[in-house]
Amino acid sequence: MKKQLQNIMTTEMEKEITTSEQRYRSIVDHNLDGIFLIDLSGKIMEVNPAGYKLIGHTKNQLENRSIFDFVAEKDFNVFKALLEKTQEGYALESLDCRFIHKKGHYLTGHIKTVPMVIHSEIMGIYVIIRDISEQAKNAETIKYMAFHDQLTGLLNRRALLDDLDTAIKKYRNGSKEFALFSIDLDRFKYLNDTLGHLYGDEILKKVAERLSGLQKNNCRVYRQGGDEFIILLLDTTRQETDRFAQKLLMKFKDSFYLNSQEYYISPSIGISIFPNDGNDAETLIKNADEALYRVKEKGKAHYQFYRSDMNSKITNVLQLETHLRKAIERNELQLLYQPQVDLITGEISSFEALIRWNSSELGFISPGDFIPLAEDTGLIIPIGNWVVETACRQIKRWSELCDKPIRIAVNISTKQFQQPNLVGVIKRSIDQFEIPPSSIEIEITEGAMHDKEETIAILNRLKELGITISVDDFGTGYSSLNYLKQLPIDVLKIDQSFVRDVLVNEKDAAIITTIIHLGKSLGMEVIAEGVEEKKQADFLLKANCEKAQGFYFSKPLSAEEVEKRFLTKGKSSGS
Ligand code: C2E
Ligand code: MG
Ligand code: MG
Repeated sequence: MKKQLQNIMTTEMEKEITTSEQRYRSIVDHNLDGIFLIDLSGKIMEVNPAGYKLIGHTKNQLENRSIFDFVAEKDFNVFKALLEKTQEGYALESLDCRFIHKKGHYLTGHIKTVPMVIHSEIMGIYVIIRDISEQAKNAETIKYMAFHDQLTGLLNRRALLDDLDTAIKKYRNGSKEFALFSIDLDRFKYLNDTLGHLYGDEILKKVAERLSGLQKNNCRVYRQGGDEFIILLLDTTRQETDRFAQKLLMKFKDSFYLNSQEYYISPSIGISIFPNDGNDAETLIKNADEALYRVKEKGKAHYQFYRSDMNSKITNVLQLETHLRKAIERNELQLLYQPQVDLITGEISSFEALIRWNSSELGFISPGDFIPLAEDTGLIIPIGNWVVETACRQIKRWSELCDKPIRIAVNISTKQFQQPNLVGVIKRSIDQFEIPPSSIEIEITEGAMHDKEETIAILNRLKELGITISVDDFGTGYSSLNYLKQLPIDVLKIDQSFVRDVLVNEKDAAIITTIIHLGKSLGMEVIAEGVEEKKQADFLLKANCEKAQGFYFSKPLSAEEVEKRFLTKGKSSGS
């Protein structure tokens, strides 16, 4: 009876054990996570089907091998530390670790470890691995996209701000500097508009490729947006930065090919240096942009370091742009006229028109501040057209008023000069006001002429109309004597920087004398700008310069003031 009872109990217990074993097995065998039972040395004692599929080996190939054979070297130590902690009796989670698949690639697993306790003793460890490779790849892609520009593959603005932040912290207490280059492609908007956006994108990609060639450990290239790029150059000095800027310009020496056409694209570059030109990211970018504006203003295709005296009043460029768009219709633009005085006779028969913007919201803004912006936004075209029309109307009125031809010079900025319809715009105003074409003069800077073929074509068409053509700020750009010979130029305007020190600086005096001589022998009229003192005027007269303008004779004046002071009938000489 007792024996029978014993037998029944044994069968019941065995059944219970088998049931419990099966329960355990089904959790393990059907689990979607890989489960590895290892001993305390790391030897694999058992693996479930998800486990061997995960690693790509068969069950037999895995058992009795060390789990460490399958852990990526990089994660070896953290994985080992995790197992050691589990041996102390803790169930642990949340470690991502890479494993080596049989085919050689890595997979990312999210790991949980559970100690296997038998009779209160830790006999082994369950390592439960969930394959999260897909998520990890997605996260990696998302991270890549967040920090890279989609079109060019370069780092983007967000990466720039992060890197600037790190660099500023790192360089704050050091003796080394780093430089920020703000780069803008000259004429990109024009190319984009004329060739179409697809080609525009191609240009950006090609430029990005060339800039990428400069990337090194201490140099990273970013795309800010549009045609604006930024380069960070770490561990540098001013001389090294200067050399780098030249190297950067050289990257654009060769033409770009697009649809088997050849295009030359140049960059304008502004440079700020930490900590000299700003202690924070925003200031460094702003100041590099400020320097960039100056390059654009002076005729592009070059680089310039920031100087603190460059800081314009304008801090909010966007706000400025919005107001500038409305400036014409609101009648906020005005032309002032600075007389050009005949140094021998004192007569005045020509003026330079200088634009003024008196914004009802922002107050007075000087052309040095808004012309570069107008160029960048394309607003220079309507503004420039307005200047031409206003000047032509004035020529008509003044020529009638004093019964002799009066000439007015208008400044034409680089982008305006490259506008396809410039000749048409000027011709329309000449016809409308019925003025002699030679009474309108256009002032262009040497910088506007860097594309020689294009310049020759435009200037010849203007010359055919009979317009007077002058070179403004002569001597400050890429003075090439060759263009003076080839282009139909009537007037050379000696830049005021030479006139300023003419009495104290022998070199300036020599340059002025040479320019006057050069201009005269080529049959051109020579006008000196920025004359502020009588002695400067005397020097110029002695050097045979025929005309001058400057505060000594008169500041730029409104049309009414000009009429009152200089233009009563029959009178056109300085008072
Ligand atoms: P710019 O064509 O070289 O004009 C000469 C600048 O020197 C003017 O500055 C004028 O007011 C200033 N000036 C004249 N006499 C003297 C003098 O004796 N001493 C000194 N220190 N300065 C003198 P402003 O009017 O501020 O114009 C600055 C620049 O803005 C101009 O340089 C020109 O490049 C540009 N600009 C002016 N009006 C227009 C315009 O209608 N269209 C375009 N595209 N640019 C313009
Ligand atoms: Mg001028
Ligand atoms: Mg000038």
